[in-house]
Amino acid sequence: MINLYGVTLSKLEKMMLEEGQSKFRAKQLFTWIYEKGCIDFDDMSDISKSFREVLKEKYCLKKPSIFVKQVASDGTIKLLLEMDDKSKVETVLMRYNYGNVICVTSQVGCNMGCSFCASGLLKKQRNLEVSEMVGEILVMNDLLKESNEKITHVVVMGTGEPFDNYDNVIDFIRIINDQKALAIGARHITVSTCGIPDKIIQYGKEGLQVNLAISLHAPNNEIRNRIMKINRAYPLEKLIPAVKEYIDLSGRRVTYEYIMIKGINDSIECAKQLIELIKPTYAYVNLIPYNPVIENGYERAESSAVHAFMDYCIKHGVNTTIRKEFGTDIDAACGQLRAKHERRD
Ligand code: SAH
Repeated sequence: MINLYGVTLSKLEKMMLEEGQSKFRAKQLFTWIYEKGCIDFDDMSDISKSFREVLKEKYCLKKPSIFVKQVASDGTIKLLLEMDDKSKVETVLMRYNYGNVICVTSQVGCNMGCSFCASGLLKKQRNLEVSEMVGEILVMNDLLKESNEKITHVVVMGTGEPFDNYDNVIDFIRIINDQKALAIGARHITVSTCGIPDKIIQYGKEGLQVNLAISLHAPNNEIRNRIMKINRAYPLEKLIPAVKEYIDLSGRRVTYEYIMIKGINDSIECAKQLIELIKPTYAYVNLIPYNPVIENGYERAESSAVHAFMDYCIKHGVNTTIRKEFGTDIDAACGQLRAKHERRD
């Protein structure tokens, strides 16, 4: 069975032609699925009964189910979703003043092995399917419908490394960005990577106007090797030129994410090195106060250190912000996502 939530419009057009249907059938299906929210082929009244039978035989419209729902004091919603094969993943809704942002998970577990992150405590079990990632948004939209709201922004910053599931993530973006589907503007979509150079360059060639964030977290190889395993495979002298090439290809600025961990990477000397490192890429910096993960023993940098770091960067011409925190009381903040319930089983 092919889950239609995972099929881009252009792929569906091809599939319809192969079924002996007109290309238009694909647009019609998209309208039923996304605009009208139809979940039963029998309700698609302008599609012939005989073709509805074909659809029912080969295709399905399946969303993940909600296993646990938690709501934080700030209104953040964290869902533990269960997939068809019983795999469980977390997804988070954050309420910014400019819109409803969903943090989408791209893999079950993660193999990147960053020492500060909870998501890697469960090794990668598998990639998420396109339909499962689209499903994360659909399920959240179903909840928001009650208050006449919907998802307006998407960050692929949940569990997993999106560029280790590249093709599915790109199809996912094409679907949610499609005017006929969820119509989420490209500039409202951000993918975050721990830094896989060839995929960063490939992403620059997709012709998508989506945003890219790089989890940098360190100003030199010595510190980055210590906290991010990926740096041993792709050190900064490979990563930074790839980012530069991405910028040249896409014409878009990137954001560097930088977690502030006490005594590890939070000194002014680090800020100085960071500025030198990223100079050729003319980028933004987003400082993330480290969120506690019981297993790893790191501590959050002092607020004064975070502000001093930010002030130093800004003074030296780098546009720097501190990431607003959401849902810390339900372990929904950056780096805290994991399939906790599954781990207890
Ligand atoms: N694998 C991708 C997508 C995950 S994004 C990536 O690495 O970018 C999740 C973001 O949260 C990353 O920037 C990650 O480094 C950051 N993060 C991980 N653990 C954290 C923690 N304990 N506190 C704050 N941020 C954390």
